[in-house]
Amino acid sequence: MTWIIKDFLEIENNQLTIDGVSAVEIAEKYSTPTFVFSEKRIKHNIARLQAVKDVIDCKLKVCYAAKANSNMAILRTVKEAGSDLEVNSGGELFKAIEIGFRPEQIIFNGTSKTEQELEEAIVWGIYAIQCDSVYELELIEKVSRHVGKRANVSLRIVPEIETATHPGLKTAMNSSKFGMTFDDALKAFTRWAADDEHVNICGLHLHVGSQTPNEEPYTTALMFLVEKLREVANETGHQLSHLNLGGGFPVNYLRDKSLANAMNEENAELFASDFTPASALNAAWKAIAEDENSDLKNITLLLEPGRSVIADAGICLTTVRNAKSRESKVEGQVNKTDNWLLTDAGFNILLSMETYKWYYHLISAQRADEAHETPYKVAGPLCDGGDVYFDIEGHGRLPDYRLLPENVEPNEILALLNCGAYSIAQMFQYNARQLPAVVLIKENGEVELVRRRDSYQDLLINDIW
Ligand SMILES: *Cc1c(COP(=O)(O)O)cnc(C)c1O
Repeated sequence: MTWIIKDFLEIENNQLTIDGVSAVEIAEKYSTPTFVFSEKRIKHNIARLQAVKDVIDCKLKVCYAAKANSNMAILRTVKEAGSDLEVNSGGELFKAIEIGFRPEQIIFNGTSKTEQELEEAIVWGIYAIQCDSVYELELIEKVSRHVGKRANVSLRIVPEIETATHPGLKTAMNSSKFGMTFDDALKAFTRWAADDEHVNICGLHLHVGSQTPNEEPYTTALMFLVEKLREVANETGHQLSHLNLGGGFPVNYLRDKSLANAMNEENAELFASDFTPASALNAAWKAIAEDENSDLKNITLLLEPGRSVIADAGICLTTVRNAKSRESKVEGQVNKTDNWLLTDAGFNILLSMETYKWYYHLISAQRADEAHETPYKVAGPLCDGGDVYFDIEGHGRLPDYRLLPENVEPNEILALLNCGAYSIAQMFQYNARQLPAVVLIKENGEVELVRRRDSYQDLLINDIW
C-alpha cells in the first residue's frame, strides 16, 4: 500500500485512518460525500515550503494561493501555519481579511479586476497588486488618485517558459491569457517613475503553471526574474523590493503506481511528479549565485503555492450507491463483463476529473488492507455521461478501470486521495445536488465540521420566483 503516509494516512483494523481517525466513522457520522482535511498535514506542507528559506540567501514570503481552497477553516489553518496569502478576487480578499490576514500579508492577482476590487486592495494597503496589463496600471493610477492612497504594484510578466504540464495549466507563454511582455513592463517602469505619487511598482511576477513536473522551469524563471530586475534598475532606476516566482509545485498523485501503466505515459509522468520546493529553489539559487548576487540580499522572494499546500491534505469519502454487471463493449474482448460501481462523488465536486481528466487514486476505506486487484468501471452520480472516473474519449488520460477489493457492493465506503486542491473551491450544485460536508481533523485529533452539507433549502437560496 504505497499510498500510506506514516502518521497521516494509515490502515487500522482494515480501515483507512486519517491522522488516526477512522474514515468509516467519519462517513457514518457525516454521511457522504464528505471531504476530510488534516490540519497536521497542511502545517507539514507549509513547513516544507518554508524550508526554501534554508537554500536561498534572501528573504522569503510564502503566499498560499487561496483559489486552490478558500474554505474559511482552511484559510485559518494556513494563516496559523505562518503563511501569507495570494487572492484572485474581491471575494477572496474579503475572506482573507475576515479570517484575519493583515493587509501586508496579502497579494492580489487576476486578469480582470474591477475598479471596486482595486479600490478595496488599495484602501486596505495590501503588499502588492499584481498587475496584468498597462491598461490595468492606468486603472490602478485612477483609483489611487481617487482614494488618495499610493498603490503597491508588481507586474506580471509572460516569460515564455514552457513546461510539460496540462495545456490548461500552462501560464507562462504568450499564448496564455496572463500578463504582459517585458517590453510593456519596461515602458511602464519609464512611465511610472520610482517616486510616482500614485503607483509604487515594487516587484516583478511570473507563474510558470500548475503541477510543473520538473525543477528546471524554476531555475529558468528565477534567472529570468533576476536578469530583468537588473535591467529594470539599469534602464529605469527602479530598485525593486520583491520578485514573485509564482506557484505550481507538484503533488505526487501516483504514490500508488498500480494504475500507472493504464494511463498514457505523459499523464503518468505528470501525476507522479515529485520534488520539493526547496530542491527546486536550491538548484535555481545556485544557478544565479555564480553571477554576483549580493544585490539580491535585500530582495524578498515570493512563492504562491496552492496545490502543494492543500492537495494531499484532503480526502474525499464517497459511498457506492449502485452496482451492476454489463457485457464489456471493448473491442476484441468478447464475453467479458464489466462490474460497474456508481458512487455519490461526481464532477460537481471534483471538476478537474472531467475538465483535465485529473487522477485521484481510489481505495476502499473500509477494506483498505485487502488486495486491490479487481477492476471496476467507476462513475459518479450525475445525470451526465461525462461523469465517469475514466477517459470517456478513449485518449488514455485516465485508466479505464479502477482497482478495488473483490465483491464491492453498494454501501461500501471508498476514499479518493489527494483531493484537497481545486475541488471544493470549484464545486457546484449541478443536478441540484447538495454540496458536501467538509471536516477538519485538528492537531489534537478532534474532528471539526468546517462546512455543513447543503440542505434542500440551500438549493433555493438565491432563486427568486
Ligand atoms: C493558480 C496560481 C497559483 C497556484 O498554483 P498551484 O499549482 O496551485 O501551486 C499561483 N499563482 C498564480 C498566479 C496562479 O494563477
